[in-house]
Order: sequence, then C-alpha cells, then structure tokens
Amino acid sequence: MKHKHITGNFTRYINSCIDACTAPQNSNTSPVKVNCCRAFIVRCVILICSTTLLSASIMAGSKQIAITFDDAPRPAGLMMGAKQRTAMLIQALKSANVSGAMFFATTNNLKHAGEEGAKRLAQYVAAGHLLGNHSHTHQSASRLSPKDFLADITIAHQRLQQFAGYQPYLRFPYLREGSSIQSRDAIRQGLAELGLSQGYVTIDNYDWYLQALLEESLAANIPFNIQGWRKLYVDILLQAAEHYAAIAEQALGRSPAHVLLLHENSLAAMFIDDLVAALRQNGWQIISALEAYKDPIAKTLPDTLFLGQGRVAAMAEIKGMARRNIRLYAEDEAVLRGLAVKAGLSGLAEGAYLGEQPPGLQAKKFAAGKISLADRYEYAVSFSADGRELFFGVAQANHRGEIFSARYKDGAWTPARKILHHPSYSFADPFLSRDGTRLYFISTTPSSAASESNDYDLWYVKRSREGWSDLINLGGDINSPMNDYYVSFTDNGTLAFASERDAATAGDFNIYLSQGAGDGFSPPKALAGDANTQAYEADPFIAPDGSYILFSSARPGGKGQRDIYVSFAQANGQWSKGVALGNGVNTPELEFCPSVTRDGRYLFYTSNQDLYWVDAAVIELARAQLDPQPRAK
Ligand SMILES: [Zn+2]
Repeated sequence: MKHKHITGNFTRYINSCIDACTAPQNSNTSPVKVNCCRAFIVRCVILICSTTLLSASIMAGSKQIAITFDDAPRPAGLMMGAKQRTAMLIQALKSANVSGAMFFATTNNLKHAGEEGAKRLAQYVAAGHLLGNHSHTHQSASRLSPKDFLADITIAHQRLQQFAGYQPYLRFPYLREGSSIQSRDAIRQGLAELGLSQGYVTIDNYDWYLQALLEESLAANIPFNIQGWRKLYVDILLQAAEHYAAIAEQALGRSPAHVLLLHENSLAAMFIDDLVAALRQNGWQIISALEAYKDPIAKTLPDTLFLGQGRVAAMAEIKGMARRNIRLYAEDEAVLRGLAVKAGLSGLAEGAYLGEQPPGLQAKKFAAGKISLADRYEYAVSFSADGRELFFGVAQANHRGEIFSARYKDGAWTPARKILHHPSYSFADPFLSRDGTRLYFISTTPSSAASESNDYDLWYVKRSREGWSDLINLGGDINSPMNDYYVSFTDNGTLAFASERDAATAGDFNIYLSQGAGDGFSPPKALAGDANTQAYEADPFIAPDGSYILFSSARPGGKGQRDIYVSFAQANGQWSKGVALGNGVNTPELEFCPSVTRDGRYLFYTSNQDLYWVDAAVIELARAQLDPQPRAK
C-alpha cells in the first residue's frame, strides 16, 4: 500500500517545535516557536511540581511501569514519515526523561526502501533505549506450526545481533503463544534453546486501533485536532494502566513492575511525553524494560492459553477471575470509535447504520423507505458493535412477529431477509451479544415438544461458520409460565428483561434483573427502587456498564399510549424513578423497544410502527432532570 504524506501545517508545526525547543534561543524567535516553547516550559514546570508532590507517594510503594513499543521500524503513515516519527519519538522520550524503553523489532519491516529502518533502530539504541525481538514476519504463533514459528523468530534473532542494544526478549505477535498447550510448550522450549526470554506485557490496550482511527480520519479529511487526540490517547492509556494495576492487586495481592504495550506509531511520537506526565501525576514511576523484567512474575510462565491480554490477565484468569472482568471496556473497537466520534475526531465506520445521516436531539425515522417501510410494522432493533449488521422485528398479521437481518458486505448493504420465523409462532425483540456470537430474542415457540404453552419466553441462537444454531431456551431460571419479554445484558452478564410473572400482586409487566453464571442465572429480582410501578413497564435496555435502564411504560402522566423512560442506578443499589425522555422522543404515539448502539452514540426505538433514532445524549438530559441540583465544583 502506498502512503501519501501530510506535509501541511501540522508537520511544519512539529518540526519547528522540535527545532525551537532544542535550538538555543535567539531574539528572532518566531510566533510558532514562542507558543511551542511556552508549552514546553509549562510542561517542565508541571513536571517539576508533580515530581516534588509525588515523591512521598513514590516512596510509599509506588506503581512502576516500563514502556515498550512494538512493530518497529513501522512504515510511514498518513500523519508523518517514518524517519520523522523516529526523531519525534526519541525527542519526546528525552524531554520526558525516559530511557531504557524497549522497541520490539519486526525485522521484515527493515525492507521498506527509503525509510532507513536499520538506521532508525540504531538511533533508538543511541538514545538510550533497547531492542527486542518481535519476529521476522509478524505472524501469530497460533497460526504457524511451532517449527515454522521458531524459524521466523530465529531469522529476527540473527538479524538483530548487528544492533548493540539488542536484548534476547521475545514479544509474541498479537501476544499469541500457540493454538494448543502442546504447541505453546514446544514454542516455549524452542525459545529457551535460543536463549530468548519472554518480553511479556502486563498492560494491554488498543493503541493500535486509535492509530487506525487517526489514519482513517486523515484519509477522510476530518480536520486534525491535536488536543482531542492527545486527550483520547492519554485518557485511554492511563485507564488501561490503572485497570491492570487493579486487576493485579486483586489477583496477585500486589501490583508488579508493569510493562505497557504501545506501538511505534505517530500517536506515540506526538503524545508519549504527555502520557508519561499523566502517569507520573497518577503516582507511576517510569522504569526501564530490563528493570521491569526482573519482577518475580517474569519467572513463571502462566499455564493457560488465555495469553492474548498479557501476563497479569493470564495470572488473573488462572486465579479464577472471569475473562470478561479482566478486560478493560476500552479494549473494544466500537467503544473507541464511539469515543472518537463523540469527540469529533473520527467518523462512523464505512456503511455503518446504512450510511444514514445521524440524528441530533430530535429523533428521525431510521432508513425510511429502506428499513422503515410505510406499509410494514417494524419494531425493536439491534446492531452489531460496528453498526454494520442489523437485526429487527416485523409484526405480521395477528401480531405474529418475525426477525429480519441485513448487513454491510463488500461495500453495500444486503437486502433484509427473514432469519427467525414460523407459520404459527412469533419471534421478536432481537438483541445481539457484544461479541456478535449470540442472538437473543423472545418467542412463543413451546419450550418442549410436550409443552402446549404459547406464552413468550427468552431464547437465543448461537452463530457458527455454518450459520445459526437451533433455538435454545434460556431455561427455568428465567422463563416463567407467564409472558417474559425483551432481552439486554450488561458487559458483566447482568440480564434485564420484563415479565408479567407477578402481575397479580405487582400490577402489570415489571422489569427484572438476573446475574448470568455459566449457562445458568441467579433468581430474577424485580428492580429495587422506584422504576417499577403498578403500570406496564417492559422492554428494558440496560447500559453495558449497568448505569441506566431504558424502558417503555404506560404509566399515567405520559404523552399517550406508551412512552420511553430511563431509570438510573443509584449508589445504594436502588434504581431511580423513571424519567420520561423529552419531546424529541416521546409523542402521543406508541413508543417502545429502546436500545442504544454499542458505541454509546445512538438510541434506537419504535414509534408509530417505524424505527427511529436519536442522539443518546437525551439520556444524560434526562439524568439532569432527575438531579436538578447544581453539582459541587
Ligand atoms: Zn506487533
């Protein structure tokens, strides 16, 4: 792939910045130099102040972290050329007073003509940093035989001998160590014979995806906003560091010397010094990679295949921590894109949401004439995390529901087709799991051949390469002899649904929560607090972080028929009273089936037999109504 270079204002700014901050001052300093040096001086002052303030906390058992960069020497990108990136990275590390960072080299990257890859690796070493082995061709150990993988590592091992700073540490590409215990152990054995130790990470993150988003936004001519990107990069990586430090405390009872995984990319070149400053401000001490690899956790190779998230994650999993709880929410492409879109840094994925123009705070009919058809009754919608796969319900005669699906493929959306339907039984309320492997829904299908019951139950199907599995009933932990409606889950497995099981005592449908555990569920409990009333409450959509539940209610005081409300989780485990969403959403028509897209940006719901969407900021506006007191500064 060819890259064109951005040679515009920003590059000039950066270059003059490097010049200005390294060259001796003179009386003819240009405005850009003045600005840049002011920033530099302010940063130094902050650094000095924070160092003084933090010396106490460092002494009281500090958090230690080493910085490592993968895939060096990476080829040029849209943001800057390869040589320029190396110069900036070295300068930024120097100004942040960091040495002993380790650059894990992928030696096949040395082939790129005109990018002086070998010279750049030598420059990192000359600047006080180290080199490690990141294979020759960057292939996953899970996709090669141990023999082929070790051969690839050996090539890199030999080529890296020419560099003074080469240390015998291997960073596995994609952090994959083999597809089976046997191949993992064969590779471990081979590495020991080569004299290579593991250049493991403890702080996994998706910095590579932020870089991909940056490149995509530059290609799409979205104006480059340096403050916005700095904030996103620093915030996410700081959260990753704190997250894995907390996981380590929980699983190991201590926070070991950590190793941060980064990539040799333009985000690092621009913001590594900002990140280091933020880490120090949060009590982290920067140490060299070799120092970090002296930690006792370097000595034991974790006996698991859960190795793609780093060593602390592997050790936590061995101690029994659920994998989904080990993951930081921001290790997710849709979440990161959502944050970047929200900050105005990035656009939606190509084709996302049928390429429709996103709405503001006034809801819009979704994909009129394409999905929302004038002569068809659509309701309930669930999108894949990237907005490129869609599931929705269609009401046929006698309220018999069918579930349709469409997806973006090869540059276009496929026509919507029925995937769950039956001449007698109804299917409705699709909910696609976060990882896209399960589709939940409700159906009147009898739960067994012997059963004649035709109430709605919760079900799901599993996706495989061959297509969708047979229907699987969620079972007696969840499904009652009465109607059970709607499905949504938090990221840690809390299920929200509605049921009329207690209608005799608690009025109409109410909202229930249950905690998933293995294939079973804890006994469902009606929401504690004021969200449920004697009126109808159903169609609960719980936020991935469990912070709110949207639902549809026919309670008195609404705009007509049913409206959409939101209840917020309170610190005491109770749920707030439902707050009606504003005039941009609720109307005298029937509003129901709310769901929020995985990127957190859009609320979908049904009104007047069509699908609508609106900016999810309406949820925060409702929260402000609940708590109108000005917040303490
Ligand atoms: Zn890599």
